[in-house]
Amino acid sequence: MTGLILRDVEVEGRRADVRIADGLVAEVGSGLTGGPELDGRGGALIPGLIDHHIHLLATAALADSVVLDDLRAAGGLAARIAAATQGRPPGAWVRATGYHERMAGLLDRDALDAIAPVHRLRVQHQTGSLWVLNSLALSEVETADAPEALERDAAGRATGRIWRGDAWLSARIGRTPPPLAPLGARLAAMGITGCTDASASTDAQAAAILAEAARDGHLPQRLVLMSAGPLAGPPDEAFAVGPLKILLDDHDLPDLDDMLARIGTARATRRPVAVHCVTAGELALTLAAFDVAGARPGDRVEHGGVIAPDAIPVLRRLGLTVVTQPGFVFERGDRYLAEMPENEHADLYRCASLLAAGVPTGASSDAPYGSPDPWAALRAAATRRTREGRPIAPEERVAPAVALDLFLGDPANPGGPPRRVTPGARADLCLLRVPLRDALAAPDAGHVAVTLVAGRIVHQAG
Ligand SMILES: [Zn+2]
Repeated sequence: MTGLILRDVEVEGRRADVRIADGLVAEVGSGLTGGPELDGRGGALIPGLIDHHIHLLATAALADSVVLDDLRAAGGLAARIAAATQGRPPGAWVRATGYHERMAGLLDRDALDAIAPVHRLRVQHQTGSLWVLNSLALSEVETADAPEALERDAAGRATGRIWRGDAWLSARIGRTPPPLAPLGARLAAMGITGCTDASASTDAQAAAILAEAARDGHLPQRLVLMSAGPLAGPPDEAFAVGPLKILLDDHDLPDLDDMLARIGTARATRRPVAVHCVTAGELALTLAAFDVAGARPGDRVEHGGVIAPDAIPVLRRLGLTVVTQPGFVFERGDRYLAEMPENEHADLYRCASLLAAGVPTGASSDAPYGSPDPWAALRAAATRRTREGRPIAPEERVAPAVALDLFLGDPANPGGPPRRVTPGARADLCLLRVPLRDALAAPDAGHVAVTLVAGRIVHQAG
């Protein structure tokens, strides 16, 4: 037998060798030979982590933007733009947001040309009402019949400023997808081998961009895509079609019939349903709708931001899975404590009580609205403390080992049993530098040594 041998790894508590072949875990045993080897030095080999709710294009776009909001002095602007242009080929677009004239005065094309002479630079004002473009960017979008939004000086030369011209500008620039390779590498470095993109906005074009990134290895993770509208899966399975997403807005909730119609559409296309439920009102409507329509395996409540005690048995009875974001307690907890009524604090992003009640529960990041780091989420799940150190419903704490399992469910069943490293399993794996016990004692993405998807190494720490 041949294939990659992971030598001396900890598998489910025991030291063993693991043979990977044909994208699968082929053999777990001792003294395995015959094939290239990778020395695990006793580190734990666990299933690759799954982020059950993320927004890939938005996360990549945010990482790709230059954020200027906290900039103070003029010199800083040039430095930040230079840092962004350095890794990009000449002519590439660079997008900066959050500019204000107190930083370096009112910008124009000439000021930006001095900072970025060979890239296409656009800088957005903090108010969102103004974009300033350098000359290269301008040459891409300027037309003789450009609207008045495109400011011109007395001589008729464009100044680079475009006032309230977003629609025109984005139509001229076109939909330029952010680079996905840096995000794919970042997720792989955290041991993530699968992502469910929960964007309601995913259409055929966005799906094609993600599929292309999957094919060329820029996004090495297995992908499942949700969408609010119809979505066809590609024949090569570059992504799998996931649940139909119902995005609710607490200030403008649909009526029950509308919800039932949308659930009916999902049923007709054999897709599960995933409903965005951050508030108690959104959850109440969702539970009422599933009570009428009936819930099916794979149906999910996204976030479960506020779950009143009496909603827990209903979730259990309907068999709905809750996909939560443990990291939000840390990242946004101080805001929750300030803004949410005190009697709802105990209901925020529940975890232990859902598990105790037998409600299938999975975990995710909701990046870019939270950090994509699942190891940070493990810490937050175990401590239930905000960034400023204040506790939120500490009775909802779960041990890091329990929180880790919430990232190990099958993408099609995020609240189901954790996948296992066992012969026949897909070789979507995460090899840690240390035994699992040590990693869980101090959860940190730095523990990840090697990440494999379908038996192929997609990350190897230096
Ligand atoms: Zn989301």
